[in-house]
Amino acid sequence: MTHIKSNPFSFIVFLLFSASILSSAEKCSQSGAAVGNADLATPLDELLFNHIKGLGDIYAKDEIWKGYAYNSYRQYFVHFTEKGPDRAFVINPPTPPQGAIRLDAKEGKGLEIYRYDLRMKEAHDLVFGSEGNGTFEFTFDIAGNNYYLQTYSDDLAEGSGDTSRAVSFSTHELFHRYQDNWENVPGSKQDFDNFPLSKELLELQILCQEIMKELPSYPTEISALKKILRQYVAIRSKEMELDPTPDELIRNHELYQEQMEGSPKYIETMGNMQFFTHSGNPVHFSYSIFEFSIETQAEVRSMMGQSVYYGTGPGAIYILDRLGVNIEAMEQGKTPYELAKTYLNMSHWEQDQALQEAKAIKNWPEIQAKAREWMVLK
Ligand SMILES: [Zn+2]
Repeated sequence: MTHIKSNPFSFIVFLLFSASILSSAEKCSQSGAAVGNADLATPLDELLFNHIKGLGDIYAKDEIWKGYAYNSYRQYFVHFTEKGPDRAFVINPPTPPQGAIRLDAKEGKGLEIYRYDLRMKEAHDLVFGSEGNGTFEFTFDIAGNNYYLQTYSDDLAEGSGDTSRAVSFSTHELFHRYQDNWENVPGSKQDFDNFPLSKELLELQILCQEIMKELPSYPTEISALKKILRQYVAIRSKEMELDPTPDELIRNHELYQEQMEGSPKYIETMGNMQFFTHSGNPVHFSYSIFEFSIETQAEVRSMMGQSVYYGTGPGAIYILDRLGVNIEAMEQGKTPYELAKTYLNMSHWEQDQALQEAKAIKNWPEIQAKAREWMVLK
């Protein structure tokens, strides 16, 4: 999740924000430790805390994923401008680190948040250093305790136009932390480099993405959702038959990635849908593959071996949940595919039927053409 776009509008917003916070930042540094509580956080920080609190309350209801206690994680948020880091906050420290100042309930939105700038430079250097991903680190040690570390700028949408971007990272990445306690998927492995490419596999993988591309907004009826799940199982089963790799990477990598990235993408999207209700736009886990321009074989492999699972994984999980299947069973080392296969219990004949049904999609000839086009890329 490090894909960042920019647009001119967000830059203007960025400038406006920068101007308005500069004066309060100066006040802060001038008055030192005697600073009043009201000056610890800017309206932008409070907006982020409001998102964190709101999403946390939604996850705490255990309706999206039973057991994911987002509210309970320790986090270190570091704000930065083009000049570097200028303020930072710890959330949920077991004991407040020395020099940390507690935000009052209004500023902290009812969360346990402390202004704590002492480590922000080091944290910022880590995230933006040669090994950093420019947004977060899973672990950052403060006074002997591990924190999830994330940087944020005045543009909480990070130029994406998506208000929830900053908090989405946090809810998503901390769900990966939550996954640390899950049982392994037997045989699973991440092997992006050797992910198989063949025309037949590409056709099926693009098809799978296409049948799921409008979830979770569309379709809404259970019968239509179940039909998509049947087609999903049929497509992935066929892919496994065609898998040329000795390590069975369709089963051991693809289906595993759908669990690994599908579940955080699922909770992230479902949480956002509940919290950011002001947007009436349809929500999709992913996009049509046809919207991307792919020019090299490495890009094809990265798209099919990595990116698509952020769409098909949550898509399958969403349908399973709508059908009443216990999706938390994934914590016992199950993939969305396995849960779907067991639930649907289709015969070979039914799977063949479902595969034919899927291929009756109106752009099947374009899917085949796309697969041919990608296979000749260097
Ligand atoms: Zn992820």
